[in-house]
Amino acid sequence: MFKKVLIANRGEIALRVLRACKELGIPTVAIHSTADNSAMHVRLADESVCVGPPPSRDSYLNIPQILAACEITGADAVHPGYGFLSENARFADILDAHKITFIGPTADHIRVMGDKIEAKRTAKRLGIPVVPGSAGAVTDDVEAVRIAGEIGYPVIIKASAGGGGRGMKVAKTAADLSVALATARSEAGAAFGDDAVYIEKYLEKPRHIEVQVFGDGAGNAIHLGERDCSLQRRHQKVWEEARSPALDEEQRGRIGEICANAMRELRYRGAGTIEFLYENGEFYFIEMNTRLQVEHPVTEAITGIDLVNEQLRVAAGHGLSVTQSDIRFAGHAIECRINAEDPRTFAPSPGKITYYHPPGGLGVRVDSGIYQGYSIPPFYDSLIGKLIVHGRTREECLARLRRALDEIVVDGIKTTIPLFQALAENEDVVRGEYDIHWLEKYLGMTKSA
Ligand code: ADP
Repeated sequence: MFKKVLIANRGEIALRVLRACKELGIPTVAIHSTADNSAMHVRLADESVCVGPPPSRDSYLNIPQILAACEITGADAVHPGYGFLSENARFADILDAHKITFIGPTADHIRVMGDKIEAKRTAKRLGIPVVPGSAGAVTDDVEAVRIAGEIGYPVIIKASAGGGGRGMKVAKTAADLSVALATARSEAGAAFGDDAVYIEKYLEKPRHIEVQVFGDGAGNAIHLGERDCSLQRRHQKVWEEARSPALDEEQRGRIGEICANAMRELRYRGAGTIEFLYENGEFYFIEMNTRLQVEHPVTEAITGIDLVNEQLRVAAGHGLSVTQSDIRFAGHAIECRINAEDPRTFAPSPGKITYYHPPGGLGVRVDSGIYQGYSIPPFYDSLIGKLIVHGRTREECLARLRRALDEIVVDGIKTTIPLFQALAENEDVVRGEYDIHWLEKYLGMTKSA
């Protein structure tokens, strides 16, 4: 195993990684910005190094400083968490050149999947069903009109370098197409420094269903079932569950095997998520994330497998602790992403937590870095914690969720807890009948795409 792991992240995910390391007896190094001096991940790590001022680009994204922190502390591996440098192929290459293990896939796999056009091409080659659309980037408007005519309106223009739900434009008719293309290109160029865009059929009522995969890099790979992340706001996940209320055992096994097979062929290493839109019984690949996801705990809840422990094992060359036939899915799990935001306007609400009481009891897990007296800095993502509940059935899980949401108290700032209280009581949500547009409609918001 590793001598020492440096965690190149903050907040709840830094704690999550730290916990897995502690259970394996691996010493940890936290990095932090000057805004995070009193953050919980810094307090709980064995050592910590300040890597720069508050803005992420100067601290959590500051590769030279992070390398120096590895050097000073003698860390021989880096876990990137999610976000920040987790899907940065250059970072993986640099660590490799310094003989430090990047706990994640190879830089090549990160690169392929980080380019959405290339990712889609690869998925198709590996036998994964994809959304009908252009074969590559569209540079010519005449060609775009022809492709859109072939696949049929509405279509969605997506940035090849896109991420975080940004860089997407919907065109309902041929008349909208050239404006949508121009806007998508200029937004993609400004946001990602790459204006390549592609066209896809816009699915009107899909669910977002993703499959958790894991490979050992030597051609062995497994799937750990799916997560349903259809409740989204501005293409960002808000509530995730496993298993999906829309799939039966046969469908689950079939799509899972397609994904695991693809990963075997790719000789994929580490944790990955293959994301699909699911409509009328068909799966359509949209992208693959080559890292641990925010919503991984719902998979842990129904499989009993510690995904970060598996990441560490695989990165250290010990292989996976389980084979496909060992995996059993038990019960149902739901995760709510609790943000420091106004529950109606979603305006960020940083500041001091004057009182905090986390919920507890059977089947309740809270992954969070907050504590009473902690001040949430205004510089980072507004996710302050995740509430994950597990029950034998979806019904039991929902009852437990309502109970846990009643117990939790976070005073001093605004949070999205009231939104989850309302969702957990909502008839459509209780029945599991929702698609990716449901939440926006429920919130009465005008669509952003
Ligand atoms: P990102 O990397 O920015 O998260 P994705 O490709 O994963 O982008 O898409 C994010 C979300 O955008 C999806 O979960 C879905 O809500 C919506 N979306 C993407 N592609 C389509 C499509 N072809 N039709 C309808 N909605 C789409």
